Amino acid sequence: MLKRIICSLSGHVINRHRVWNDGYDYRTSCDRCGTPMLRDVDGWRPFDEARDNDLPRKPHPSEQAETEDSQGGPPMPGTPLPSPYGN
Ligand SMILES: [Zn+2]
Repeated sequence: MLKRIICSLSGHVINRHRVWNDGYDYRTSCDRCGTPMLRDVDGWRPFDEARDNDLPRKPHPSEQAETEDSQGGPPMPGTPLPSPYGN
């Protein structure tokens, strides 16, 4: 891919709007080629699946929200709600 060639020459572009903490490190993706990035002690570097994926890292909040939705869901019909008018 041409974008990856540009990134390999000039470095990845950190997408600072997508940064999140996965419980261990700050993470984002390259704004140009989409490579997953991890902020190491020395700075940002590409996420290394073999080296970095041995920890139970949390996914990006937008990806996590979908699983939470499927588990939780809306309240069951007929669930008593607190009445604003009292009883
Ligand atoms: Zn890149």
